[in-house]
Amino acid sequence: MNQAEWNTFYDRYMERRMFHLGSKKIFSVLRLKSLAKLYTYFELFFLRRLVFPSVEYVVTTRCSLRCRDCSNYIPYIPPGNHYTATLDDFKKDVSNFLCGVDGINLFGILGGEPLLNKELPAIMEYACGEKRIKHVLITTNGTQMISPELLAVLKKYRNKCSVAISNYTANKELSSILKSWDIKKLLQQHGISCGIDENLSWVQTNKFQDMKRSEDELKAHFKSCDSFAYSILRGRLYVCPLASSFAALKLYESKPSDYIDLTTACTSQDFIDFLKNDCWSACNFCTTSRTEQVKVQPAIQWPVAPYLQKEENN
Ligand code: SF4
Repeated sequence: MNQAEWNTFYDRYMERRMFHLGSKKIFSVLRLKSLAKLYTYFELFFLRRLVFPSVEYVVTTRCSLRCRDCSNYIPYIPPGNHYTATLDDFKKDVSNFLCGVDGINLFGILGGEPLLNKELPAIMEYACGEKRIKHVLITTNGTQMISPELLAVLKKYRNKCSVAISNYTANKELSSILKSWDIKKLLQQHGISCGIDENLSWVQTNKFQDMKRSEDELKAHFKSCDSFAYSILRGRLYVCPLASSFAALKLYESKPSDYIDLTTACTSQDFIDFLKNDCWSACNFCTTSRTEQVKVQPAIQWPVAPYLQKEENN
């Protein structure tokens, strides 16, 4: 690994692993966070263990809402490009992923709206039953009630999973379809960890566009990016949820270095190469700004799906 590659690997893996370990009781109680740093090096170079900090799996790109400021641009995906993972897809992707890493700290189940995937109970059973996954978190928009089958799985694995319910109640137009508080009550009755952010705020999204960035500009944009989670869609691991969405939107032709193919067994070298990469095709379409952020009410709806609108209205 050259210096630039090591710097990227350090930012994207070592620091995140240290952060995670540093938050563990054993390290924080002893107030010895530097131990977490030592352990991260020991774990990687001596034990040869690679533990992924955070991965999101898109179980469906379909959604029951069409939020104007959806950070992943889901409403822009036209019907022909939508994807819903089957249980077999999910098992194959996760088992091939885990051939190359020793564990995953946080495994997010996302959509679109994940509860629209009919196989979600079986998907959760598989994810929670996998010992190398430490915690499974479903994020739902609160429009779909938890089915008895899903509730049974969540109850069975309540020490290992939780549900984040997006709080869109500030948008009164959605009050007739939101079940957020009923979902929370049901989960709490069964001792399942869940949360609703009382003060949820969103930032306005700028529409993606071809920024025509040079290689140096792509690298600089990526370097300033604090996107934490990697994202799996259609059997591929992408650098972030936006990269997944841009692929679903077919904005760019992915190069082999833009993703890890999860349709075959992965190796730890695949992940090391991935984590040291500092130039991604997806970053050319990313208009996310860390400095100019306008706060907006969460979940303002598009009156018509944006892919049906004329370009000048988007
Ligand atoms: S597209 Fe690139 S810059 Fe934008 S969030 Fe993803 S990794 Fe970060």
